[in-house]
Amino acid sequence: MARIYLDHHATTPCDPRVVQAMLPYFTEKFGNAASRDHAFGREAAEAVEKARRQVAALIGADESEIVFTSGATEGDNLAILGAPPGHVVTAATEHKAVLDPCKVRDATVLPVDRHGRVDPADVEKAITDRTTLVSIMSANNEIGTIGPVAEIGKVCAARGVLFHTDAAQAAGRVPIDVRATDVHLMSLSAHKLYGPKGVGALYVRKRKPRVKLSPILHGGGHEQGLRSGTLPVPLIVGFGEACAIAAREMPEESERLLALRERLRAGLFARLDCVTLNGHPELRLPGNLHVSIAYIEADGLIAALPEIAVSSGAACTTATAEPSHVLKAIGVSEDLAHNSVRFGIGRFNTDREIDITVERMVAAVKRLRELSPLYPRRP
Ligand SMILES: *Cc1c(COP(=O)(O)O)cnc(C)c1O
Repeated sequence: MARIYLDHHATTPCDPRVVQAMLPYFTEKFGNAASRDHAFGREAAEAVEKARRQVAALIGADESEIVFTSGATEGDNLAILGAPPGHVVTAATEHKAVLDPCKVRDATVLPVDRHGRVDPADVEKAITDRTTLVSIMSANNEIGTIGPVAEIGKVCAARGVLFHTDAAQAAGRVPIDVRATDVHLMSLSAHKLYGPKGVGALYVRKRKPRVKLSPILHGGGHEQGLRSGTLPVPLIVGFGEACAIAAREMPEESERLLALRERLRAGLFARLDCVTLNGHPELRLPGNLHVSIAYIEADGLIAALPEIAVSSGAACTTATAEPSHVLKAIGVSEDLAHNSVRFGIGRFNTDREIDITVERMVAAVKRLRELSPLYPRRP
């Protein structure tokens, strides 16, 4: 049976154009980018610098502000643990890659509204004389809600504290311009935007103000001393190409994904009762649909449809039976949290795949509800 992949918030396939760009850097162009004494090293270094420009261009940064990392988890850790000591402000719906390093520091974890947005006024109130960093994500990996990043940036700039945002989900999906926003640090991940797994970047602002970070990895002083370790040249080349494609194709792609998302939403809501949308109705990632389907165990539904790859809760919080901390934070009851399904539509999905998904989901939900003693039946 043909499989349908609708879990693009967990990861995306590498775009074939990205793979093509990477291939020579595994074999004939295998040099170490730090070995500038010979052509092998210089060729690798040039490829890394081209990729750095491509990544910078996607977010409106200068290439000197891009520090390559192993992914957004490392970027988040570097931003949070590398920032000056003191108090940190974050939010309950952040990815664990932000929440867990915040536990090592003195942190205030802010609540969010029912759509998953932090109130910038709450950020303002939480900042004290000891606060050095605010970390609030650009877009949520579960419910797709896009945060008030520009407003929070203004609050941070006015109070003179650093503002970090985890943009692993936003980058390549919605426009980002670090110059037009008071963002000082931004984490990116290649495998969320059709690049390879195992590479990402941290944007570190150089001007107005110049951000001073301490490294968490020590060793050769690569990446301006902020991230030691031999650069994974093929992965970086792929990341750069993925960013260039995203920058070029985003307007068209986001429109297409939004149409697919609305097709899926309309199909499910028209044919099923007791379904609710989680996350913000408009301010959400174009390819994201997150729903609670009452009287259905999400795990049972997913098991009944092995050919359709969707997620119950967050794939990023590993295999725990715990209901998602994000759904809890937006006030979804524990029962409904177990009824929740996340759809992440991506670049290679088609209308036909969405139609098949609607057909099979609706049929499976109806079948499972037949078996449920709780589902209210009309007499
Ligand atoms: C996927 C994701 C991460 C982790 O990124 P990796 O590159 O896999 O380490 C962090 N934050 C968010 C919001 C994500 O979606």
